[in-house]
Amino acid sequence: MLPADGHVHSQFSWDAPTGDMHATCARAVEIGLPALAFTEHVDLTRWNLHGQPLPERYRGHVDAHGRFLGDALQVEAYLAEVGRCREDFPDLRIWSGLELSEPHWHPGAVADLVRATGAERLVGSVHALPDLHPDAASTTPGEVVEHVETGHGYLQRPPLDVVRAYLAEVAALAASDAPFAVLAHVDYPLRTWPTSEGPVPWDALEDDVRTALAALAASGRALELNTRRPLEGRVLRWWHEAGGDAVAFGSDAHHPEALAHGFREAADLAQACGFRPGPTPFDLWGRA
Ligand SMILES: [Zn+2]
Ligand SMILES: [Zn+2]
Repeated sequence: MLPADGHVHSQFSWDAPTGDMHATCARAVEIGLPALAFTEHVDLTRWNLHGQPLPERYRGHVDAHGRFLGDALQVEAYLAEVGRCREDFPDLRIWSGLELSEPHWHPGAVADLVRATGAERLVGSVHALPDLHPDAASTTPGEVVEHVETGHGYLQRPPLDVVRAYLAEVAALAASDAPFAVLAHVDYPLRTWPTSEGPVPWDALEDDVRTALAALAASGRALELNTRRPLEGRVLRWWHEAGGDAVAFGSDAHHPEALAHGFREAADLAQACGFRPGPTPFDLWGRA
C-alpha cells in the first residue's frame, strides 16, 4: 500500500489555481491512497521581488515597496470543503493541515491560525531568505527586514551560499518551538539549482545538511520525503545516522494528478535507508 500523502495543496492555496480538493480525494480513492492531508499555504513573510516577474498562477498582493505576499487562507471555506469531502469519501482519511512558511519568524500569527483552523497536520517550511540586495540593508532597529524567495537568492549570491543559507535557516526553524511536526522539503533550493552550475556539490554541503538534520532529530520532529524532486538517498541516510525517528511522505501536489507522485520509488528509498512503514497506514514511517 502507498504511504499517506501528508503534503497536498488544493484551490485554497494561493499558488494552486488548478487545485481541486474534491477531485484530489477522488484521485486518492482511485489510486488506493489510504490518507491525505490538505496542507494549505500560510505565508506571512513578504518577498521583495526586485522587479522579478511573478508566475501567473500566483494570487496575492504586491505592496508599494515591491514586496509580494500570497493571499491568506480562507479558513471557513477551506474547513467547509474538508467537511464536504469527508462526507463524500467516507473510506478515505482526510486530514486538515497547514504548510507554515517560516513559522519561527511569526509566532503570534501562526499560533492564532493554528488555533482557528484546528489543523491536524502541520508542516513547517522555509521558502524565504534574508535579502542581500544593497537597497535592502537596514540598520535601524524596528525597521522591516527584507526577504527574498529562495529561488531569487540565486540572483544575489553564489549558488552554494544560497543552499547553505537555506540549510542554516532550516536548522533555526528545527531548533525553534514553532508548532509543526514535519519539516517540509529540506532540498527546496535544489528545485531551482542553476543548471549552469553542473551537479549539486553534495560533498561541500554535507556538514550543513547534517547540522540541519541533527537539529531536526533533536526536536523529535519528522523529515519529509518530498517527491516534487527525488530526494538524494544520502540525505535520508544522513537522517538515519542523525538518529531521525520518523519519515513522512509528501507529494506537494498542487493539482489532483500530482497526488502521491513518485511514492513507490520514495517508499523503496526509505526502506533502503533503514525506515519501515508504521503500525497502520495512517502512521509516519519509523526506523526499521
Ligand atoms: Zn513548500
Ligand atoms: Zn507545499
